[in-house]
Amino acid sequence: MLDSRLHRARQLTAEQGWTALLVTPGADLFHLIGHVAAPLERLTCLVLPVEGEPALILPRLERPKAEQAPVRLIDYPDGTDFIALLADALPVPTGVIGVVDAMPAAHLVPAQRLLPGVRWEVAGRALAPLRAVKSADEIAELTSAGTAVDRVHQQMHRWLRPGRTEAEVAADLAGAIRDAGHARTDFVIVASGPNAASPHHSSGARVIEPGDAVVVDIGGTMPSGYCSDCTRTYVIGPKAPPGFAEMYAVLQEAQRAAVAAVRPGVPAEAVDAAARDHITAHGYGDLFVHRTGHGIGLDTHEEPYIVAGNAEPLVAGTTFSIEPGIYRPGAYGARIEDIVVCTPTGARRLNTTPTDLVHL
Ligand code: ZN
Ligand code: ZN
Ligand code: ZN
Repeated sequence: MLDSRLHRARQLTAEQGWTALLVTPGADLFHLIGHVAAPLERLTCLVLPVEGEPALILPRLERPKAEQAPVRLIDYPDGTDFIALLADALPVPTGVIGVVDAMPAAHLVPAQRLLPGVRWEVAGRALAPLRAVKSADEIAELTSAGTAVDRVHQQMHRWLRPGRTEAEVAADLAGAIRDAGHARTDFVIVASGPNAASPHHSSGARVIEPGDAVVVDIGGTMPSGYCSDCTRTYVIGPKAPPGFAEMYAVLQEAQRAAVAAVRPGVPAEAVDAAARDHITAHGYGDLFVHRTGHGIGLDTHEEPYIVAGNAEPLVAGTTFSIEPGIYRPGAYGARIEDIVVCTPTGARRLNTTPTDLVHL
């Protein structure tokens, strides 16, 4: 499995005309060789030459957890000039080398200085096919992640109540996300009342009141490494703010239209347009201030992006969010987010809780 992923990465590198690919800690490294490492000041780097043997350069103290990696290990003790080590591991000190998007500048810039004959390219787009199209096993892991985060939304009445602050609710949700089966909580957005008009609001000291609309966007990483991400909007008590229910109905229709637009071969931007056109037709177009979605897998945000300008056709096996939102500054906001997998016949939702407005 891992060996075939390395093989594919090498093919994509060769197709670009590069001599080698450098992969530093992050989802790409985990996906290729199963090695989990933090991006430290010490260099950890997979060197994948188009010709020759791949090798993982890593600090000696991290070697024990890398022994299962299907590549040669080059470990170094602290005090080593690891940039020189990296230069030595390259097949030739010329040509073009691709580096993953996450390579720390603290490592890349000294390498550039040491190897003036090399041209460097960011590899993210070229490597997108590696992780964007999921295997059946990966889709099963993402399905489990979706089920786990759905369980938290289904019990929202336990935590989201008037008289509590956003931060209190968020702290409880962080625990609930882990209790539902995630290895860690990645983010919790509890945006109440006028704060709901800020899509990436930081949950704070505002006390939740009857009549508030509350956007709750939560996600975590499962023990498998795969991520969840789901948003629902709630209203506290029986009475929604004036105009909110009408706006929410438009949003719900828009989200459904975008899900219905998913099919292999459809440009990613057409899914964005399906949501946006509906919202715009009802006069809320200026209030939908972000793209419709993002791919999800080992990272919460990855290829493919569901955004105007991305004409790439959707491929069966890609997984991504569909999350239109409408935000009225100073008043309220709403977002509905489901993860879907593109199947040969259309979208299948990995989040299955209803999208109807829930009054708590
Ligand atoms: Zn986001
Ligand atoms: Zn989200
Ligand atoms: Zn999202």
